[in-house]
Amino acid sequence: MKRIQRSELIVLKSEKSGENHRLVTLFTSNSQIVRALAFGAAGSKSAMRGLTTPFCLCEGELYHDPVKDLWRITHLSGLDLYDGIRSDLKKFYTISLLAEIILKSYGGGDEKAYALFKKTIGFIDRAEKAEDVEKLLVFYLWRYLKMSGVLSDPWECGSCGRTVATSETVYYTGDGQFSCRSCCGESAGELNHRALNYLYMTSGMTFEEALPVETDQSILATVKKSLILIAQSLIEYPLKTLKTGSMFI
Ligand SMILES: [Zn+2]
Repeated sequence: MKRIQRSELIVLKSEKSGENHRLVTLFTSNSQIVRALAFGAAGSKSAMRGLTTPFCLCEGELYHDPVKDLWRITHLSGLDLYDGIRSDLKKFYTISLLAEIILKSYGGGDEKAYALFKKTIGFIDRAEKAEDVEKLLVFYLWRYLKMSGVLSDPWECGSCGRTVATSETVYYTGDGQFSCRSCCGESAGELNHRALNYLYMTSGMTFEEALPVETDQSILATVKKSLILIAQSLIEYPLKTLKTGSMFI
């Protein structure tokens, strides 16, 4: 292991440690999650004080102390503090949910996970409409779950292998699998064909292309609810942000 690592990173979590230090959980540009101590960062005069809060984008230098097996942040410079997220609770809780999913799924296990998260934060930060924040949550979750390799194609029945027609409803049956109506069990979550078509249409697009695609609020709500439930069922830990931010997500 290299003792010194320089990386672009995003702060996911920050906790006070001791008198005036912070224990910071970072998502680095190679999609690794690193917990590192920022000495003195909670002190009022520390240059790291403003940067060691969620969800700052920074350029950082980390030092690994082999004796204590501990990472320390030796330098941080801010690249984007995302002021749009800090002044809007819907944006803040949406990003908090994404960060919690990353933390509880250990980064998702794909090297592109960081790039997807960074891009999504940037778009949510600049979003002008609440609806766009919801769309970005859906785009992110779909891509993240697919990227993590935990989700099968909903347009192919996981039980009988049949390709599901675009007019049909599919059912989430757990363990990353979708089924057609005749194969699904009783407790399966439903993704109706309008919701599925919205996913179909936007899944191959860039965010720039997908955001202007019009959809009604009920479809967006269905897709959002389904994907959050799927993420929750795959992670197996309760997502705290769903409770604390339930009014905004
Ligand atoms: Zn089937």
